[in-house]
Amino acid sequence: MPASPTKRSTKTAAKPRSAAAKRPAAKRAAPALGNALDVRITHPERVVFPDTTITKGDVAAYYAAIMEWLLPEIEKRPLSIIRCPDGAGATCFFQKHHADKLGAHVGSILLREKTGSDRYLYVDDPRGVLELVQMNTLEFHPWGSRIDEPEKPDRLVFDLDPAPGIGWSDLVAAAKDVRTRVREHGLESFARLSGGKGVHVVVPIRRGPLWNEAKAFCERIADEMAADEPNRYLATASKAAREGRIFIDWLRNARGATSVASFSLRARAGAPVAMPVKWEELARIRSPNAFDLVAALKRVKAMRAHPWGDYAKTKQSLPRVSTRR
Ligand code: ATP
Ligand code: MN
Repeated sequence: MPASPTKRSTKTAAKPRSAAAKRPAAKRAAPALGNALDVRITHPERVVFPDTTITKGDVAAYYAAIMEWLLPEIEKRPLSIIRCPDGAGATCFFQKHHADKLGAHVGSILLREKTGSDRYLYVDDPRGVLELVQMNTLEFHPWGSRIDEPEKPDRLVFDLDPAPGIGWSDLVAAAKDVRTRVREHGLESFARLSGGKGVHVVVPIRRGPLWNEAKAFCERIADEMAADEPNRYLATASKAAREGRIFIDWLRNARGATSVASFSLRARAGAPVAMPVKWEELARIRSPNAFDLVAALKRVKAMRAHPWGDYAKTKQSLPRVSTRR
């Protein structure tokens, strides 16, 4: 169920820029925050990434600056967030359930769970994003489906998780292998640096199939890769068995699973960003965490179009998969 009307955005609430700028300066150490949205950020001076000078104010300014790119990735999708009340160097937690205190522009949607149902959170308004930042959110992780049809994914993700020691070129080759495999099924795909250790290959699909069908397709791709090249790939999550290989994680494509959003910060050392890239760019990039907050801002400011082109408009249907079990 969508949020109650009082939770929804209203176009009238935003104060003019000048009024926001005249707000008490004392608590607004970070200049302007790039936040013309009138979302109050407390303690903007607090450093949230240890070993950097990046503050909560910088994080808010980052999200405000890249909002037009982030919001389409996450809006109207059930959303998990990673909140780090004491910064990225301390305890952080995943949150998927809505709470009123998250903010007036953070929506809630009732979703079924193993037993019963609960309210999940979502945003569809820049103010909601910044309210979550005010609540110390660093990372945004959407479902691959939207709140109007949560049972039907419109986006699949292959999460490539390399064992320690796997080089960048092997990871790039793996991502391209996934691309080739799904292309054999008529599907275009797109690459994202996770901001951590891996690369995600994202496949937009027309809505229709349910999660189980989508998952079966992804499992099949991963199984085929592991069967054909067992020295390079594996399709089972066991860390112990991963040695020297890349885990093609297809399990992200289950109902309730999430993947980090493009342009989301990661709560990891150095403030890396999950960055979508063009396939041609991959070879030139050094690592999955090549873009930190500063580099990401620079890139996004110079960006005329999304690196994935108009992938959101990609119309392609998941092929039917015969289930083997
Ligand atoms: P890396 O490249 O370092 O693997 P990643 O974002 O792919 O970064 P994973 O640990 O592989 O991180 O997890 C894949 C996805 O699973 C994450 O992007 C996140 O959305 C989800 N996830 C990870 N840990 C949890 C958790 N504790 N609770 C819920 N979802 C999680
Ligand atoms: Mn991963």
